[in-house]
Amino acid sequence: MTTTTGEIILKPGREKPVRNRHPWIFSGAIQQVRGKPKTGDIVEVLDKNGRFLARAYYNPHSQIRARILTWTSNEPIDPTFWEHRIKQAITARQLLALEPATTAYRLIHAEADGLPGLIVDKYANYLVIQCLTAGIDRYKQTIIEILANLLHPTGIIERSDVDVRRKEGLEPVSSIVWGNKPPELFVVQENGFLMQANLLTGHKTGLYLDQRENRTAVCQPHHVSHKEILNVFAYTGGFALYAAAHHPTTIVNLDSSATALQEAHQNLQLNNLHRPQDEYITGDAFEILRYYRDTNRQFDMVILDPPKFAHTQRDIERACRGYKDLNWLAFRILRPGGLLATFSCSGLISADLFQKVVFGALVDAGREAQIIQTLGQASDHPISLTFPESAYLKGLLCRVW
Ligand code: SAH
Repeated sequence: MTTTTGEIILKPGREKPVRNRHPWIFSGAIQQVRGKPKTGDIVEVLDKNGRFLARAYYNPHSQIRARILTWTSNEPIDPTFWEHRIKQAITARQLLALEPATTAYRLIHAEADGLPGLIVDKYANYLVIQCLTAGIDRYKQTIIEILANLLHPTGIIERSDVDVRRKEGLEPVSSIVWGNKPPELFVVQENGFLMQANLLTGHKTGLYLDQRENRTAVCQPHHVSHKEILNVFAYTGGFALYAAAHHPTTIVNLDSSATALQEAHQNLQLNNLHRPQDEYITGDAFEILRYYRDTNRQFDMVILDPPKFAHTQRDIERACRGYKDLNWLAFRILRPGGLLATFSCSGLISADLFQKVVFGALVDAGREAQIIQTLGQASDHPISLTFPESAYLKGLLCRVW
């Protein structure tokens, strides 16, 4: 329940971000830890004069030593606290009016919903949860019970099989934690399109729900009708479905995973949008793009939605080179007047830096381009103003000359 089992005293001058409601306390900001708190224990965060700043969960094994749950001194961290936060996140999603056209969306976006380390995605009558930190892992059972009571799902699946958990000293987990197992390929709806999602083995929690609004923006009829489209990093065909609805000439779907492409194919069939002229190519995006450049194959639209390239600060430079190469290749194979929809989901690469990388690729490719739309993560993946790190997905829709 509320029992706080320790205190963190911050170094002089390090309380400002906490007062400004940034939820992370790095080890370097801490002067003293009192009371030997263990992983997941609730601690009081105090300024150098011992004044209350916040209440957080603690992890001695992580550089992010504590994540703040409340800034209100008389708000205990008990089941009522968790229920209140979860209800608020659910209400925020109801206000987006996604249902009934969309039945798969994010219910809880971790820090941005005041629940550090916790992701909950809703896939129709199933929920998928991810516990990204050791702290939140401690409260998992309470959270599962609250979710079950509030939403009455058929089943809750835990997909805590992500790399970041290792930084927290946690092992990956993937299992049914409540109710029934979902069918292997479970069909949900996104903006009226049917999509199969594999909740136990699919990427992330099953689908890339964060791209929903970008699929609509990029695949507008005037952008895709009668056009040749190259959908790079196609996964299970999210962009392909939206594009196919508006009669492009061809869609070439490219991914390194044959299984994902097979599901993409099935998703198009499921929506009666399967077209014999479309291509499904399994292989490495860099190699195949180079092959298209060398053989002069051109497209009217290229979609680049690569996986996360930068996982740590040390990866940033290499990641930028990867993004630059990809975008350079895309600029080389686009017809004049064509569109490039280019994305980065690396949180460590800011929108500014990403735009600079795309600019570098453009100059080296000897082309001209205009940004006609800037793109971001869907509104069910909100960005906290006090926690800019919650913005991770960025994209540019560029007209290329
Ligand atoms: N655009 C998709 C999501 C893409 S996720 C959607 O809207 O749902 C990134 C995809 O890139 C994954 O499907 C992964 O299999 C694929 N991938 C990773 N590395 C790759 C590479 N080197 N070449 C081609 N595909 C790759």
